[in-house]
Amino acid sequence: MSQPRVIIVGGGFAGLAAAKALRSAPAKIVLIDRLNHHLFQPLLYQVATSVLMPGQIGTPIRGILRKQKNTTVILGEVTGVDKAHKCVFLSNADRQNVPVTYDNLILATGVSHSYFGHNEFGLYAPGLKTLADAVAVRNKFLQTLEQAEAEEDPSRHRDLMTFILVGAGPTGTEVAGALAVLVRGMLKSAFRRIDPASARIVLVDMAPRVLPSFSEDLSKAANERLKQLGVEVRLGQSVDQIDAEGIVVGGERMASKTVIWTAGVAPSPAGQWLQTQTDRAGRVRVESDLSVPGHSQIFVVGDTASFDQDGKPLPGVAQVAIQQGRYVGKLIHNRITGGSLPEPFRYSDKGSMAVVGKGFAILQSGKVHRSGLGAWLAWAAVHLQFLATSSLRLSVLLQWIWTGVTGQRGSLLIVDHHGPKPDKRVTEPAGNAAAPHKQDLPELLPRSSGSRAMSGSGQL
Ligand SMILES: Cc1cc2nc3c(=O)[nH]c(=O)nc-3n(C[C@H](O)[C@H](O)[C@H](O)COP(=O)(O)OP(=O)(O)OC[C@H]3O[C@@H](n4cnc5c(N)ncnc54)[C@H](O)[C@@H]3O)c2cc1C
Repeated sequence: MSQPRVIIVGGGFAGLAAAKALRSAPAKIVLIDRLNHHLFQPLLYQVATSVLMPGQIGTPIRGILRKQKNTTVILGEVTGVDKAHKCVFLSNADRQNVPVTYDNLILATGVSHSYFGHNEFGLYAPGLKTLADAVAVRNKFLQTLEQAEAEEDPSRHRDLMTFILVGAGPTGTEVAGALAVLVRGMLKSAFRRIDPASARIVLVDMAPRVLPSFSEDLSKAANERLKQLGVEVRLGQSVDQIDAEGIVVGGERMASKTVIWTAGVAPSPAGQWLQTQTDRAGRVRVESDLSVPGHSQIFVVGDTASFDQDGKPLPGVAQVAIQQGRYVGKLIHNRITGGSLPEPFRYSDKGSMAVVGKGFAILQSGKVHRSGLGAWLAWAAVHLQFLATSSLRLSVLLQWIWTGVTGQRGSLLIVDHHGPKPDKRVTEPAGNAAAPHKQDLPELLPRSSGSRAMSGSGQL
């Protein structure tokens, strides 16, 4: 008898947990992801702020599952689901919308950025969700410091050295803290014409307090820590505008070349593919066994699922995704083997943590509320434990020790494969659009007009 096929879409926390839970199932497991790697998103902020290198938080999915003989990994993007014919549509580099049939389907496709209806903000304020985003954010931070170092006009330094984080949830707070440590620490002595320590770091949110998912006392402790690090916290103010010149918050314009968006997320289009009920955010409403209503062979897990427990929706965090993935994997295994079916899904909350700067975190687990170094050590231990492989655990631990002792960073490289973007303020001399004059070449930053033009290469 041929084995049933289980398709898992997404190799994030939920999809990978489901695949692992199916490791001994007599089934053909096919895990599809549009990226070739599993990403440890909780440490993305450390790549964006140069502590870690991208390869220290991403692992090829194929490598993680290499010993799992019943599982095939496919690199491709799922573009839809046909429930009637029990197939997903898969596109990759050379095929479009190829139907792939399933007996059981697990959708674990996560979330993307949401600009709350202002998609135009995305042009100027990138989000932080993938490794490519983290490298782009790191490029942006470092590039503007380089621009400031090369800028003659000191009145422009403040704009270039103003970094704005929109969203005071865990990601925005963690980036703000880590960025403050970076500019006020190691980078301080690396520049000659600017003082990176004087950089302005602003954390903006509409909410009345930072980290609003934590208790008030911990939120206050985090706020105090941010202030000690020199982060300007602006709460209760909405973002009206983001453009090439900066941001308008609560009616006030703040000039900045670096605005990062960490404020909102939107679920994957799984709800549209399935044409099923979603919550207001667009996440798929699921039954108590995480299946889609009326379709007991289709499951939605992780960030893209909407599941209420004790009258409240579960948060979009890694632990929920892992526990849901494991649950569905086990349920499908037992269905195939005729084993007993598990009780309805119930999330076991082990607590939440967030880091603010160096050696300081907040921790909330039931009635236990902690802040400071002890909480940071707990945070470090938990995060190391959940990295995908032991080599990553060792590599990240050594990097943290090295950075803690020496202040040196994993990577301060500006990696831009497309080359520097032309500065919009540069205009070519009339009639000379194609080739530069030979005498322009010695100038490091040739500008043809305007009072900010460098007056000669000797100035640098
Ligand atoms: C910057 C950041 C920091 C975070 N920090 C924390 C933290 O400290 N603690 C915590 O608990 N949680 C944290 N989270 C949240 C946590 O990472 C998510 O809750 C978790 O990743 C959700 O797991 P998931 O499997 O549902 O989705 P994901 O892990 O996002 O995985 C989704 C996968 O699906 C793939 N995919 C999506 N669409 C398609 C498609 N159409 N076809 C093929 N593949 C597709 C993606 O490539 C991805 O691999 C953080 C998230 C971010 C972005």
